[in-house]
Amino acid sequence: MSTTFDREKEMERRSLKRSHECRHFNGLSNGRCEAGVAYASVRITADSARASYPCIDHVPSPHPRCDQCVKPTLAEARAQIDAEEVEHQAIFAAMRAAHAHAKYARLGRGRGGTGEMPCPKCVTGTLRYIVSSFNGHMHGQCSTPKCLSWME
Ligand SMILES: [Zn+2]
Repeated sequence: MSTTFDREKEMERRSLKRSHECRHFNGLSNGRCEAGVAYASVRITADSARASYPCIDHVPSPHPRCDQCVKPTLAEARAQIDAEEVEHQAIFAAMRAAHAHAKYARLGRGRGGTGEMPCPKCVTGTLRYIVSSFNGHMHGQCSTPKCLSWME
């Protein structure tokens, strides 16, 4: 049984990767990062096929190529990854609860419908869901802004 070990290794791998990523980085396809820096202006190699960028390379900030570059320390990156993991677990738990709620109401494929329940994630909101009669998939949304919202 190496599941816990593998999970820890995965968390360490994700934390290390995150510690190489500037907090303004939003994906190269956006052209500019959230600090307004054009990726093309800080590209490290001229050959765009093999380009690397200060935003995602292994050099910590302050980065010589970009004065806007801010990378988390490994500990800060790990804290972010851990917080995201807690968030994901809460989302999955709430989705499972909504499915159990719908099953209890005998909703599913062939018998679609709607339901609502107290939101298991934020507790204060109302989680409303719709079950598709076509495939039993669920669309759920909490009344609290930025809480749960998913579509299967
Ligand atoms: Zn909620």
